[in-house]
Amino acid sequence: MTQRVVVLGGGTAGTMVANRLARHLTDQIRSKEVEILLITNTEKHLYQPGYLYIAFNEKAPEHFIREERDLIHRDVTLIVDEIQKIEPDQNRVRSDRAEYPYDYLVIATGSRPDFDSVPGLRESAHNFYTLDGATRLRDTLAGMKKGRILITVDIPHKCPAAPLEIALMLDDYFRKRGVREQVEIQYTYPIGRIHSLESVAEWALPQFEKRGIAYETFFNLERVDPERKTAITMDGEEHPFDVLISVPAHQGAQVILDSGIGDEMGFVPTDRHTLKMEGSDNVYVIGDATNLPISKAGSTAHYQSEPLVHNLASRLKGLPETAIYNGKVACFLENSLQDASFITFDYENPPKPAATSELLHWFKMAYGEFYWLNVRGIL
Ligand SMILES: Cc1cc2nc3c(=O)[nH]c(=O)nc-3n(C[C@H](O)[C@H](O)[C@H](O)COP(=O)(O)OP(=O)(O)OC[C@H]3O[C@@H](n4cnc5c(N)ncnc54)[C@H](O)[C@@H]3O)c2cc1C
Repeated sequence: MTQRVVVLGGGTAGTMVANRLARHLTDQIRSKEVEILLITNTEKHLYQPGYLYIAFNEKAPEHFIREERDLIHRDVTLIVDEIQKIEPDQNRVRSDRAEYPYDYLVIATGSRPDFDSVPGLRESAHNFYTLDGATRLRDTLAGMKKGRILITVDIPHKCPAAPLEIALMLDDYFRKRGVREQVEIQYTYPIGRIHSLESVAEWALPQFEKRGIAYETFFNLERVDPERKTAITMDGEEHPFDVLISVPAHQGAQVILDSGIGDEMGFVPTDRHTLKMEGSDNVYVIGDATNLPISKAGSTAHYQSEPLVHNLASRLKGLPETAIYNGKVACFLENSLQDASFITFDYENPPKPAATSELLHWFKMAYGEFYWLNVRGIL
């Protein structure tokens, strides 16, 4: 009988897993012992790290968009459908038009910024966490010659480095346009330092001080007044702005909340080494969808896909599962529009930012091009 793997979510993690599995299981798929279904709710695949470069008009939006159909291995069946319920007790997922039974499920439904987490935020704030948001921010920044930019951040959110990167890149962007003196940049962070990773905070702080980027810690938004263009914190302070750029707290996908399999934020309780959903032996979770207290990043999904695919392919071949995920994450940190640092870390080893260089910036740009091979499972 054919064993069916359903991969739910066709973003970075899901596409990588489905393609890598297909490459490991060519014989089993062709002899119909195994089939792989990738179910996702959109035909487009977006490379989200590209949004930063859209905001600064370094690249056009189209540069970061591909058809999902063109990215998947020929042995993977792509289904475009919005799944409404995951039912692990029944070994199936379902939409309002079909049911999809599975033997193994990989949940890769990602995370999303919750623009309703703070009253007034949706109406007032710019963002660079969506394609539309980055495009609108690009046009606003292009027209700005003076004024006050306020950056607010709430946790958890994907790509923990991105708020620091946008502050440092804004500084460089306005310097290059010759109006930096007239543009005030105020960065804020909800805890007692400017980044959750101590070494990253220590790396960025001297840059902020040298380049006149103002910052405030323990900054937690209570509401935003769109008419007065003012952000109000939980301790009652008022912060006026001309442009507000917000990274709101993220949630897991709606289907996780609706299926009752996540925590209160919609993230799925996941074993940190096996990547199995807690309490399940045939449901795996990968990428932003997990509740693991590590960076929600494409690189995390990449490193998680290696043990996950190894174990799942082994099981489908009747072999034992022996691989474990060690918490590995890697991340470039843009210091400006032309130089960057790099960190890598895991459960045991904290990050140590590398010296910034133009070369690291170009590696980050080059990775954006290689991504399309990586997500196909070729690299
Ligand atoms: C501005 C920005 C900069 C970033 N920079 C970096 C970086 O430099 N390095 C890095 O490693 N990471 C970076 N990231 C983070 C990275 O993009 C994400 O962590 C990564 O995309 C997570 O992959 P994922 O597959 O878990 O989620 P996603 O890629 O978001 O994919 C989830 C998929 O599930 C689908 N889905 C959701 N619900 C359903 C449903 N009910 N039915 C069917 N399909 C569904 C969604 O449509 C989506 O296609 C950045 C992100 C942003 C926004």
